[in-house]
Amino acid sequence: MTPSLDSDRGPGARQEAFAADTLLLAPEHLLLREGPVREHAVLVERGKFRDVGPLAELAARHPHLTALHLPGRALMAGMIDAHHHLTQSFGKSLAYGEPSEIFRRVWVPLEASLDDEFVHAVSKLAALESLRGGFTTVCDAGTRAKGDIGALASATQEAGLRCVLGLICNDGGNDSTPEQRRALKAGAERFLREWSDAPLIHPSLAISVPEAASDEMLVAVSMLCAEARTIFQTHVNEHLASVERSVVQRGMRPLELLAHLGALGPQVLIAHGTLVTPSELNLLRNTDTAVSYNPVASQWKGNAVAPANLMAALGIRFGLGTDATRSDAFRLMDAAEAAQKLAFGLAIGDASTGGGWTWLDHATHEGARAIGLDHLIGEIAIGKEADFLLVDVDTPELCTSVDLGWDLVRLGNRDQIEAVFVAGRLRLWQGWPTDWDARALMRQVSGLAGAAIARAPIQRLHPVSAEHRRLSAAAAGGVAQ
Ligand SMILES: [Zn+2]
Repeated sequence: MTPSLDSDRGPGARQEAFAADTLLLAPEHLLLREGPVREHAVLVERGKFRDVGPLAELAARHPHLTALHLPGRALMAGMIDAHHHLTQSFGKSLAYGEPSEIFRRVWVPLEASLDDEFVHAVSKLAALESLRGGFTTVCDAGTRAKGDIGALASATQEAGLRCVLGLICNDGGNDSTPEQRRALKAGAERFLREWSDAPLIHPSLAISVPEAASDEMLVAVSMLCAEARTIFQTHVNEHLASVERSVVQRGMRPLELLAHLGALGPQVLIAHGTLVTPSELNLLRNTDTAVSYNPVASQWKGNAVAPANLMAALGIRFGLGTDATRSDAFRLMDAAEAAQKLAFGLAIGDASTGGGWTWLDHATHEGARAIGLDHLIGEIAIGKEADFLLVDVDTPELCTSVDLGWDLVRLGNRDQIEAVFVAGRLRLWQGWPTDWDARALMRQVSGLAGAAIARAPIQRLHPVSAEHRRLSAAAAGGVAQ
């Protein structure tokens, strides 16, 4: 009999079917970069896709293997979060209703109070949230927590999440001393060297915002990344206040400053890019600088929406990022499409606004290009790392599908993710880790988080939502309905 995921062998056996070192998987739908196909299979061995193609051809090429048939499942590339802060994720609900530049009032004071044990615990929880949401890789823009960044790295490794890990190299601006700059550059070089061969970790350098560094550091960090073939991450042109401070202090907008210094280029990933002028779009395109488009960050705390559909048309590279908001890749794609439609498409009668496949491609292959890992991940293709999802598409919502790609963007749900693989290894089964106790970690973090939030000198400007409603009703002279 042909092995099948739906064969009646009980729940344990279904998971065990994926434990083999070599897997010949025959899903009902295989999402290749060019679109979904049927009657195809993939061979996963030693962590990579070793063969991909029509099932009959793979069966003939590998006669010693028995295909595991996966009826009702789509096998797709794991999605990529192009901008995250793993050590902030535990405080995500502090951001609700807050005006812009939350980092000044919440994230900096909160992260500064975290020790290594706490960093490890919250990062591992955030890594789990990412995997549950369908992300197999996140690009972390660095933590401001004191102590060893190794605590963050080991947390993602233990969870089995691939991570581009940024080391923050802020020297504070043009008033920094030569000694400070020398020490930061030496630390950056050491970090890139020490982590270059670590499993699932891809070291990177970051400066929080251009105004947090001197001209010399902006150039030095960008050049170090170019030489090391890694990426330089920085938040650019996100908030009006920050853009205006840059104009006052440096005479240029943040993106213009980076261009003026020669610090843009293919090694650079700017987060947000929500407030970009036409000439700044040209700067991005002409320098091949990449962007992380973060639509949920715009929804929750932004001043604007990045013109991502226009960027796509101009050939500007971009991925989709959560910015530590909601680690749910399907809802991120939905927000990516919806934000473009509402911010730009409606006004000009553009009913498609990129179409569904655009957002799926930017959550996978284009995301990999934006974070500099397209040689390794981002699609189901021979030689790529076997980072993939099995998605149950045999659901009431999808049983009449005529466009699986767009369906996944608009209707897809993380509860449909049956299995998450990173580097060929099953990491989550039906939303939970296969080899470590997530509930014990949840208990640990929930015990620590309340105390950390209470201890940190954060400034919240918005009350919790029930209180906000009561105050609003009282101010209006009535009562909440
Ligand atoms: Zn960010």
